Amino acid sequence: MNAAESLADIRRRIDRAATKAGRQAAQISLIAVSKTRSIEEIRPLLVAGQRVFAENRVQEAVVKWPALRHEATVELHLVGRLQSNKAAAAVRHFDFIHTLDRLSLIEPLVVAMATYGRRVPCFLQVNIGNEPQKGGCAIEALPGLLEMSRSRGIPLAGLMCIPPVDRESAPYFALLAKLATRHGLMGLSMGMSADFETAIELGATHVRVGEALFGPRGDSKTET
Ligand SMILES: *Cc1c(COP(=O)(O)O)cnc(C)c1O
Repeated sequence: MNAAESLADIRRRIDRAATKAGRQAAQISLIAVSKTRSIEEIRPLLVAGQRVFAENRVQEAVVKWPALRHEATVELHLVGRLQSNKAAAAVRHFDFIHTLDRLSLIEPLVVAMATYGRRVPCFLQVNIGNEPQKGGCAIEALPGLLEMSRSRGIPLAGLMCIPPVDRESAPYFALLAKLATRHGLMGLSMGMSADFETAIELGATHVRVGEALFGPRGDSKTET
């Protein structure tokens, strides 16, 4: 399948999963995760009409996206771990951040948003499987992170998670949805190539799809 065909296929699958769940496909944003892909690999998706993309490294986005943004109006999401010293660049180059996961990121983000006059909506990432090596705040730390984000004026988009690999995702998606409801948050960034349909059935508003659109990544070690 070429890029346009893969895109049409994923959109059909999103439609079907939404219908099955009694939801509107228009309520679900398909984010094409273009990490490790070259400009030449990304362009066919742009041409096919895809406008929402994600990268997991700030530096990679800074190199790839300024040129592509000249070709179309895109919405760029950061889905990789964010270091404090990259907060300013993240605010400058991204339209959404999915990985606000600790208190120490809040102040650098607040300062950067003021500096650039950009309010970048953030998802709070939750370490939903309580895995030591994973990004995301502990479930118990979420109320504190949320309260501080709100009081400092961070625009909140919702919650994000990456369930443990090799485990069934559904219970983790359901738990994230429950946390979002409990805290009055609308957005749910969950579901990747292997499980986006399950995520949609459980309420995902943003699905992050890489390999199902672009084909296998050569380097499967993708830090989150
Ligand atoms: C790479 C990545 C994705 C996409 O994963 P695929 O399995 O290629 O669909 C989604 N979310 C995050 C945070 C990622 O790093």
